[in-house]
Amino acid sequence: MQIKNSAVSMIIDASDQKELEEIKLQFLGRSGKFTLTLKNITKVPAEKRATIGKLANEVKDAIESTLEEKISSLKYQASDRRKQSIDITGPGIKPEIGHLHLITQAIEEVSEIFNHIGFTRVRYPEVEWDWYAFEALNFPQNHPARDDWETFFIKQTPDAKKGSVILTPHTSSGQIREMERKKTPPIRMLNIAKCYRRQSDVSHSPMFHQFEGLVVDKSISITHLKGTLDYFVKSYFGEDRKSRIRPYHFQFTEPSLEVDVTCGVCKGKGCKLCKEGWLELGGAGMVHPNVLKSGGINPKEYTGFAFGWGVERVLIMKEGIKIDDLRLLYSSNINFLEQF
Ligand SMILES: [Zn+2]
Repeated sequence: MQIKNSAVSMIIDASDQKELEEIKLQFLGRSGKFTLTLKNITKVPAEKRATIGKLANEVKDAIESTLEEKISSLKYQASDRRKQSIDITGPGIKPEIGHLHLITQAIEEVSEIFNHIGFTRVRYPEVEWDWYAFEALNFPQNHPARDDWETFFIKQTPDAKKGSVILTPHTSSGQIREMERKKTPPIRMLNIAKCYRRQSDVSHSPMFHQFEGLVVDKSISITHLKGTLDYFVKSYFGEDRKSRIRPYHFQFTEPSLEVDVTCGVCKGKGCKLCKEGWLELGGAGMVHPNVLKSGGINPKEYTGFAFGWGVERVLIMKEGIKIDDLRLLYSSNINFLEQF
């Protein structure tokens, strides 16, 4: 009886499952108090054994049933605590919402601007034949852009007609592909793609993005090009920005031009960021007759203009965005990207 009372009160006071296991061992285990007492039953006179045996069973049952009750009551308390910890009427935890990468935002904006004036966005291979990247674009065999130091070459046996395989160093390779696809003008192409060059410093990364415009039709002149440039500059940089063109030289355009935009910081007055109020945007020009011929278009019947600019470059030039190291754009540094 003493064993029963002390076991029951210990079970009731127990606070967890582990403590209950220990109490069970202490009384009902192989060398537990109850088990040892039961072993001594042989020392009891035979006529009293039946009564004692019955009593022993009652004690064992009492201990076991108290144990079971306690276990289920502990489980209930635990689930009740869990229920109480979820207050569905309380304010929720606001998930952090990210945004598109700066470059993706710029690509979308540029695409939309040109889409308004009838340009169709296309994408052409990043792994390209020499023919599309250089040969068909009027680059002579010894042009420095074909140098190992400027262009990434892919190890593959060159094709008899299309030459070696490279990572495209500019989006201009899309010009010939677009002429082949359309076969007959009018062409109004916007090719936005990744380009690769062997370079890496604060203003260059080995991979960058360009957007290339190509317009080919009857009677296309340099005034169409200037109009398109002005439209883009005002749409992308703002109404107060102006563009200008300067003579330049490119293999695939004749005449070739360099395009400048008024500086967004000094508004054209001149500051340490710009050259006397102007920032260089990139190249443009009238499509060289040899390029039209390479694309299967008769240069006596059709003319065209083209331009190719860096997405990273226009993004940095846009007012309010100042990035000291271009490579930061691809560093996946959340602290940096969250600022925009
Ligand atoms: Zn300036």
